[in-house]
Amino acid sequence: MLAGALEGGEVFMSVRLAESTTTGGDDAAVSAGNCTSMVFASRDGRLFYLFDEYRQRDAAATAVFDLEALVSHLSEADRRSVEDNVLRCLHAGTPWRERVHVRVDELVEDTLLFAAERVALNGRYVVVLKVDIAVPATGDEAGSVSRLKSDFSFIVDSIPAGLAIFDRRSAMVYYNSTFSTLFGHVSAHIRLGANFVEVFNRLLERSCDSSSRTEDDRQILFTTRTPEGRWIRIHRKFCRNGYAVVTAFDITELKRAENRLKEQAERDALTGLLNRGAFFEHFGKMLQCRRRADVRHGALVLFDLDFFKSVNDIHGHQAGDEYLVEIAERLRSGTRRTDLTARLGGDEFVAYLPGMAPENLPHVMDALHARLTAPLRLRGKHFQPGVSMGVVLIGDGEDDVDELMARADVALFRAKQKGRNRWSNFDPELERQNERRKRVLAGLREALADGAVGFALQPVVELPGRVPVGFEVLARWRMDGEDIPPEEFITIAEKNGLILDLGRLLMEKICRWFRETRQSGTHPGRLFVNVSPIQLKDRNFIRQAGRILRKYGMTPDDLEVEITETALLERDMEIIGMHLKLLHREGFRIALDDFGTGNASFAHLKRFPIHCLKIDRSFVRDIGRNRQNTAIARAILDIAHYLEMSSVAEGVETPSQAAFLEAHGCKLAQGNLFSPALPPEEALEWLREKQCS
Ligand code: C2E
Ligand code: CA
Ligand code: CA
Repeated sequence: MLAGALEGGEVFMSVRLAESTTTGGDDAAVSAGNCTSMVFASRDGRLFYLFDEYRQRDAAATAVFDLEALVSHLSEADRRSVEDNVLRCLHAGTPWRERVHVRVDELVEDTLLFAAERVALNGRYVVVLKVDIAVPATGDEAGSVSRLKSDFSFIVDSIPAGLAIFDRRSAMVYYNSTFSTLFGHVSAHIRLGANFVEVFNRLLERSCDSSSRTEDDRQILFTTRTPEGRWIRIHRKFCRNGYAVVTAFDITELKRAENRLKEQAERDALTGLLNRGAFFEHFGKMLQCRRRADVRHGALVLFDLDFFKSVNDIHGHQAGDEYLVEIAERLRSGTRRTDLTARLGGDEFVAYLPGMAPENLPHVMDALHARLTAPLRLRGKHFQPGVSMGVVLIGDGEDDVDELMARADVALFRAKQKGRNRWSNFDPELERQNERRKRVLAGLREALADGAVGFALQPVVELPGRVPVGFEVLARWRMDGEDIPPEEFITIAEKNGLILDLGRLLMEKICRWFRETRQSGTHPGRLFVNVSPIQLKDRNFIRQAGRILRKYGMTPDDLEVEITETALLERDMEIIGMHLKLLHREGFRIALDDFGTGNASFAHLKRFPIHCLKIDRSFVRDIGRNRQNTAIARAILDIAHYLEMSSVAEGVETPSQAAFLEAHGCKLAQGNLFSPALPPEEALEWLREKQCS
């Protein structure tokens, strides 16, 4: 380094820091006396920056000035020249001055004015080296500097970027007019001499993105937004010479274009509503915000155009598109600006109405439905749009988008089921039932495949003497440890095409039980088997029943088919009637179950081959308690008597009910008084006990 090169002598370098605007003169006198500061270079190369007023003090206590960094920018040749000249000055006393250009970085180029002079100090020679940093002045034309300055301002003002320069002491030394325009909102702070930190804090105040910095912190980039809504990107750079350069660009147009692009990507191309992806993104965010703000309700609405396919098919896709655009427009104009509306695809739309209170829901939905379904004229043709809507109210803290969509879907399904072109609300109770139904259906399917549906047997007795005559077979099924009531799973089986399988499975099982019981030496009597109308309508039912009976060595006489009264009122009564006659011809006996609860008339009783009436347990229960029902029970017994049918009273629970029924000619009965429905093994035990006694 410089000092290291000057072996044998110590070098004092005096440095005067020139402002960039100050002109350093070639002919400025060089003497220790008029230096503003001194630099002492020690042998080990450490450099101390000494202000005049500290001269008397200990050199080591003063601030370090980075002269090393300054000369490090010199080219190798210049550095050697400086060293040579300083040495020559020291040894031969030759004063030296030279102008050296230094490139600090890609932006800044300084001119250093070196001047060395030998002086005697305390009886020794030292070199006083003066280094000036100056704005280059060629010196050949007077006023060139000031012209350059005004040219510079003119040029810099004409570029569409704001520019501000701060000197080493952090004072603003320059800003162009664009800079003051861009930051009009903090204009009070933009003036020459303003402190860098102060100005910068103002600019950062409204910054809205995390700045990107370079590793050494010399450069930083951030974006800020002015109160007028303009976006400004600010770039700040610390130069090696200690200057800070701040450039600012108005990127509002860029931002707008960016937003437009983003918007376009979020929109459905045909209708201009949000598209599916964007809807879910915004919906999710809004639900989150809502939770924080604790607004209680909101509604999610799914829309499905009724029979839209036929618009396309009949009038063409162009008309279909126009139809969709019109509906979308109605949806947009029928909702508030703060609502979210989107096209999910095809003819499905969705809306999120934040802040919807439950009490307002009906009239808002009615109004929206009316607007969407107003008559429509397209290409000279009249259309009457139909729209089905499913609505779900969003409760406090509910923010599971998938769950809410599933509920709205359930509600939409309900609207369609009820005949379309209406709105339907999501009903949690209904949904609970729906869920249960789905679970039971899935479980039942599995159980049928595994043959896991069983049966219980309820004894049927002759009233005088309680002599067993047989058993009613009742389906039994446990799902996940829960006894599912037969009414529940039988209905589900009937509605989902499983009842034929279920009937066949039970028939196999009871017939096998019948044979085993008989083989063990006990006769089970007659089996009363419940048969669903769907089974009755099935062409194969009779053949199948006959085959199973034969397989287990039974005859139709061993069975009594129970059909509910309502089976006779079915639309397919013709087939049912035909099959009942066939059954009768085969030798099966037929009992009419739950008699008195449906609307069967005497005509039905005459038309079909019925052998037995089962008095519904609701009448039996009321015997002696309710005059009317007591009378009905008596009347049924009379009908059976006059039509020469037998009768079975169901649900007999008390001796007085049994006594009444017996007194009025009822021959057969079943009920908890005699025995509840029993598992097959217990039924056998019950039977043996009876036979013993
Ligand atoms: P159901 O044919 O009227 O069967 C009689 C019901 O009354 C049975 O209920 C039986 O347990 C119940 N019960 C018997 N005695 C008493 C009593 O003293 N008091 C009271 N309160 N109830 C009594 P369960 O087993 O729950 O069956 C309900 C219904 O499910 C049956 O009514 C029948 O309609 C249907 N079902 C049961 N098994 C089958 C089947 O295998 N096929 C078809 N299609 N339907 C079945
Ligand atoms: Ca029954
Ligand atoms: Ca019954």
